[in-house]
Amino acid sequence: MEELDLTGVERVLVVMAHPDDVDFGFAGSVAVMTDAGIEVVYCLVTDGDAGGSETGILRGDMAPMRRDEQRAAAAIVGVHDVHFLGYPDGRLEATIELRKDLTRVIRKVRPNRVLTQSPDRNWDRIYASHPDHLAAGEAAVCAVYPDARNRWAHPELADEGLEPWTVDALWLGIGHDGATHYVDITTAVDRKIDALLSHKSQLPDPGATETMVRSWTGAIAQAAGLPEGRVAEAMRVVNTR
Ligand SMILES: [Zn+2]
Repeated sequence: MEELDLTGVERVLVVMAHPDDVDFGFAGSVAVMTDAGIEVVYCLVTDGDAGGSETGILRGDMAPMRRDEQRAAAAIVGVHDVHFLGYPDGRLEATIELRKDLTRVIRKVRPNRVLTQSPDRNWDRIYASHPDHLAAGEAAVCAVYPDARNRWAHPELADEGLEPWTVDALWLGIGHDGATHYVDITTAVDRKIDALLSHKSQLPDPGATETMVRSWTGAIAQAAGLPEGRVAEAMRVVNTR
């Protein structure tokens, strides 16, 4: 694994299926980027309203609650622009409609990089490969290439005045086995934990969450060859230029 190079990156769009996905995988990297003056924008495809059936919270209350939790988590790592597409949680498919909605966001935000979930199932860690994650990742990859850069894709977007936009690279959350790059998040791990703990409806045990994050990010740092005491997040970089 190599250290992720942020030179020349001005704007990053993060596309995730559910509230909390970005915080599990990448809130530390996001904090490192916003600390460096990079603008980071979130796009959540669903409201995560099918998560937390065991909590006793009414299902109808879950979507607004999870949006608020995600906005609070975003603010902790310096993100103040959060888009919600409102697709139904647990039933996501990589449809042309979703590709169009993501293309619209890409053309509005005009990011240099898109960080999203891998469309490939991880057979070693099936929880990472929730079907919604695979669908969100697949649609985001298709929106980056070819849709957002092709004026003739989704012609109604051109009618909305949105010009084609080429994203230079995808960053895929893929688990550190398939990762090519890492971000040292040692200065940001406390904020990552705080961001995760904003998802109160999903993570009722703060101690367990903190222990899990520290051991997991420590393992990534070790896999990246960083010294003892460092923590990291990892992704696969795909050139889409
Ligand atoms: Zn998820």
